[in-house]
Amino acid sequence: DSAPGPLPIRRLQESVINRIAAGEIIHRPASALKELIENCLDAGATSIRITVKEGGMKLLQIQDDGCGIRKSDLPILAERFTTSKISNFSDLSKLTTYGFRGEALASISYVANMTVTSKTKSDSCAWKACYSDGALVPAKEGASAEPKAAAGTDGTTIAVENLFYNTPTRLSALRGSAEEYARILDVVTKYAIHNPHVAFTCRKTSSNTPDVSTPSGSTVPQAIRHLYGPTIAKDLLYATVSHTEEEDRNGSDDATSWSAEAHFTNANYHAKKTVFLLFINHRLVESAHIKKALEGIYIGILPKGTSPFIYLSMQLDPSSVDVNVHPTKREVHFLDEEAVIERICNTIQESLVAQSSSRAFDYQT
Ligand code: ADP
Ligand code: MG
Repeated sequence: DSAPGPLPIRRLQESVINRIAAGEIIHRPASALKELIENCLDAGATSIRITVKEGGMKLLQIQDDGCGIRKSDLPILAERFTTSKISNFSDLSKLTTYGFRGEALASISYVANMTVTSKTKSDSCAWKACYSDGALVPAKEGASAEPKAAAGTDGTTIAVENLFYNTPTRLSALRGSAEEYARILDVVTKYAIHNPHVAFTCRKTSSNTPDVSTPSGSTVPQAIRHLYGPTIAKDLLYATVSHTEEEDRNGSDDATSWSAEAHFTNANYHAKKTVFLLFINHRLVESAHIKKALEGIYIGILPKGTSPFIYLSMQLDPSSVDVNVHPTKREVHFLDEEAVIERICNTIQESLVAQSSSRAFDYQT
């Protein structure tokens, strides 16, 4: 017997394609929230309020006081590849926003019920619209899908309900609401530390007391104190490193400018597990490699089995890094990675050594 003949190749339906694509971007409530927070920051918000029901699976609501969305843009808001952030390819090389793909709201609308209420400064009232599968839908059966006038303050509120109601495999891959909520708090906490000028709150619908709450107009160390407590805050050190192209004129010719700043705990602080926050060009990313290098500095400084807290924010030449071009790409690599990491580690180490020798000196005198 011979193998069966090939099956015909068929074009997938648009709706199937879109649902698959949505699943690549929105893995769980916390990944939807990350996209929504980035949109608020892009909109210039100074206050971001998050409300969560059942770990975000029932409801994930986010309210900002940013620029709002124009009523005339609401009909295409949840279509794939619609964005206000870039208009041509060359804009990509001078990107100053988190967003540019125009895929987040579309993706959310393919895997959840999404309601947007928004008011710009020049609107006399807010406009409210419901979305499903990339398009406006009526709030109730039989009603019109057109945006409706609503009460509201300047800014945007987005409610995401019944996440993955139409993708049962995704839904069943989620952990319980406690674990999903913990992931949500983790995302909020990290963005709140990196954006201390913005006030963040996050609470469950069942509670009036927020689990995360930061005031606006803080500094990074103040935000760390707010969110991780005074024990970490009192043992924080700070270091910056920068590198300009000129330094390399007579060395390698492919070097680029970069800078980094770090807030990290000293020898007095020891946690069970390392807390590591890494931002590259303001994007929250992961790098097992950088984490390991940084942990290495603390060997011999901290008691065995204990770990530091480290916040590291790096600014790299956009041409040397390809961060988050796809939203699921969290693990990053960049040009001259080894040399850059070494410079950062050396700086942090010097600062730790200087601090501990001044402590020894204090003790002796
Ligand atoms: P992107 O952020 O890549 O542009 P999104 O799907 O996340 O794509 O958002 C689409 C568009 O919707 C944005 O370009 C922006 O114009 C608008 N938008 C989304 N969220 C907000 C918000 N919170 N405030 C103001 N505008 C928003
Ligand atoms: Mg976006």
